[in-house]
Amino acid sequence: MNQRTLVEPFRIKMVEPVRVTTESYRAEILRNSGYNPFLLNSDDVFIDLLTDSGTGAMSQAQWAGMIMGDESYAGARSWLDLEKEVKDLSGMEYVLPTHQGRASERILFGILGGKGKYFLSNTHFDTTRANIENTGAIAIDLMPQASMEPDTYLPFKGDIDLIALASTIHSLGKENIAGIIITVTNNSFGGQPVSMGCVEAVRNICDRENLLLILDGCRIAENSYFIRQRESAYEKWSYREIAQKMLRLADAFIMSAKKDGLVNIGGLLCVKDYTLSLKCTNQLILTEGFTTYGGLAGRDMQAMAIGLREVFEHDYLEYRIKSTAYLGERLKNMGIPVLWPIGGHAVYIDAGQLFPHILPEEFPGQALVCELFVKGGIRSVDVGSVMFGKFDNGTFVPARQELVWLAIPRRVYTQSHIDYVLDIFKEIKEMDVLPSGFKIIYEPPFLRHFTVRFERINSQSFN
Ligand SMILES: *Cc1c(COP(=O)(O)O)cnc(C)c1O
Repeated sequence: MNQRTLVEPFRIKMVEPVRVTTESYRAEILRNSGYNPFLLNSDDVFIDLLTDSGTGAMSQAQWAGMIMGDESYAGARSWLDLEKEVKDLSGMEYVLPTHQGRASERILFGILGGKGKYFLSNTHFDTTRANIENTGAIAIDLMPQASMEPDTYLPFKGDIDLIALASTIHSLGKENIAGIIITVTNNSFGGQPVSMGCVEAVRNICDRENLLLILDGCRIAENSYFIRQRESAYEKWSYREIAQKMLRLADAFIMSAKKDGLVNIGGLLCVKDYTLSLKCTNQLILTEGFTTYGGLAGRDMQAMAIGLREVFEHDYLEYRIKSTAYLGERLKNMGIPVLWPIGGHAVYIDAGQLFPHILPEEFPGQALVCELFVKGGIRSVDVGSVMFGKFDNGTFVPARQELVWLAIPRRVYTQSHIDYVLDIFKEIKEMDVLPSGFKIIYEPPFLRHFTVRFERINSQSFN
């Protein structure tokens, strides 16, 4: 293996200062925020690994594009540039701009969903599931048992369970299935990649059963990187060609451009079918904006058009995937339980294994999130039972795993920032007094993690 230092393929032209605060200050503001990292002010965060969504740095070409943005209401040049780029990438005839991914979801699932309908997916992302359930439809995740093993290496751990897919279609009746959604990379499942072979197989099933294949392609460039590395037929393909091929297997494509669009805001909804496109267009105009801006400024669309090209550049993708692996592999070597192999955009820590003394209903992930913030000013988020646990007739049903994610913003942090994160983990590993768990004192009816508030159990053992 190449032992040279991983070097960021850019140099820094503009800087944004970040502030180091004291541990006692962080403990206090965390308590005041109900221990919910979403309720913290970013000025109080030193290294922000809450999400990779809309948090990336744009390139000089994208900033130049912002200046060139055409702010005309209809038929803007910036829109035409974006449309051309997305048509070329996706091969889909009908391209609609939206302000972000969930707007695309609300429009598409509002049309396809409804009571009695089912959507089947490798894993529905949280906003995807919420938008589906909001129509009265049911979202079912179908991951193979083998992929659930946190330590097992599989090259495409994001693949849907094809056998379960076929049998679920059969048992629910294909007339009740509104669509098959393949999420690439599989965000809520470790950012693990999906193989081309898997998407081809799903395409065949959709052809046979006359079902709609929807690609949730927020991280399609990162997924293409893994395909080129791990699926031998594609080792000579460009990342963009791989994405083009995968998108041509789908009937619809939704994307939050805040991820692989390399922009701070923006989304896409693309469909092949004319009739479906008309229904989407009507909804878009009703709630997002006219078809040539969809809730975005011209400059946002210009930056997105450029970002969608830059994201497939070899130097960028190599740095992107390897820098995520840099953090994950070192944590693993340190004995921190991580989801293996490391995915594209985030490292997932198994807090259930790290803090086995905390019961799932007392949220071990939340305990780690709080330690990272108090000790190091690092913001992370629980994607275990805080996000996915629920009460079923009064009984607590935990998430499958008590994960915490460290999402890496694109082109934002340097290797020394990441080395600092590793230092904080080392301190957590060597802690004498183990942290206690949490209990929920407020929760909203859906997407709980955004506004939930906690209280610490046995708070005397802490601070
Ligand atoms: C982020 C994301 C979405 C939703 O996009 P927003 O821009 O946050 O509304 C949908 N699906 C996946 C896989 C995502 O990662």
